[in-house]
Amino acid sequence: MSTIFKKIIDKEIPAKIVYEDDEIIAFHDAFPVAPVHILVLPKKEIVNINFASEEDVLLLGKIQLVLAKLAREFNIDKSGYRVLTNIGEDGGQTVLHMHYHLIGGRKLGTDI
Ligand code: AMP
Repeated sequence: MSTIFKKIIDKEIPAKIVYEDDEIIAFHDAFPVAPVHILVLPKKEIVNINFASEEDVLLLGKIQLVLAKLAREFNIDKSGYRVLTNIGEDGGQTVLHMHYHLIGGRKLGTDI
């Protein structure tokens, strides 16, 4: 079943896209919890890292570099930021297409 993120990748619904290449897309979270809250995800439909495999190793590595690049672009690389991925029900994953939250721009507590 197609997720809301697949629809964003396919440009069926709008998003504030801040990075895109053949394999990766990043856009502003619709409900930001901090001044910077960007979602970075593979275009490939991987539910979460439980479903990633050896063939995804390079892709997962590239995502890390996109996260760092966006942190620099949004000027939070020096102040610090948080990268997180929610997995499954107890992890609070609501969209079943893996994604990393890039969160920063304020002092973060332990609640997010
Ligand atoms: P998670 O709970 O980790 O699965 O994260 C899903 C995130 O997607 C939440 O932070 C939502 O605010 C965000 N979100 C849901 N729908 C959209 C959308 N259409 N555009 C941008 N962000 C969205």
